[in-house]
Amino acid sequence: MVKMKLKTIASGSSGNCYLLETEDGSLLIEAGIPIKQIKKALGFDFSNIQGCLITHEHGDHAKAINDIAKLGIDVYASKGTLKALDCTGHRFIPMTHNKAKIIGDFEVLPFNTEHDVVEPLGFLIRHRNKKILFATDTYYLRYRFNDLTHIAIECNYVKSVMEEGLKDGTINIKRVARTMKSHMSLENLIEFLKVNDLSKVEDIYLLHLSDDNSSIPMIKEEIRKIYQGNLIIAGGD
Ligand SMILES: [Zn+2]
Ligand SMILES: [Zn+2]
Repeated sequence: MVKMKLKTIASGSSGNCYLLETEDGSLLIEAGIPIKQIKKALGFDFSNIQGCLITHEHGDHAKAINDIAKLGIDVYASKGTLKALDCTGHRFIPMTHNKAKIIGDFEVLPFNTEHDVVEPLGFLIRHRNKKILFATDTYYLRYRFNDLTHIAIECNYVKSVMEEGLKDGTINIKRVARTMKSHMSLENLIEFLKVNDLSKVEDIYLLHLSDDNSSIPMIKEEIRKIYQGNLIIAGGD
């Protein structure tokens, strides 16, 4: 049986890094932590890594982008992201919305996401008969996807928890406004999941949870109502 697994090396606003593993090659997705940590998590063995995808230029996603290229791994991101990070050289390969690329044993289709940066991307990644959607740092997703077997998606905050924080003064109005226009709420995520066919989905990974404005029990309870398969909170329990 073909297997696909997303391993979380780091997830959240202090850094994101994931490893998409198959019985063939692996893809690194995001490099938003120090390279030392990435190397350690990979057991200092990069021979299986066929490329690194970066969604956008924020440090919590791209901090180690140059170090990854120096290891001899090709790095894929939008032209806007590469320009914002001043990345030049043959290891940096630009990707464009809706133009698929073959990367090792994977076919990667990038698509536009909604975040407060130049040209953010999400990725639809196919490997044999498995298909994973990877989308983070996007306050909503305008597209629908077919035949997904895995979903890795941001669930940054719960609206009611953030509103509570606003009342208590643990979060200010400016940050609330920014978060609502750049990150995915549980409520928007549920709407997205409802309009997509989840019948073949084996695993849903929830990424980039906010420490202050989310609630794992609430998230699990709400998602369970529409999806009964395997639910994994990245970096959580
Ligand atoms: Zn982020
Ligand atoms: Zn971001």
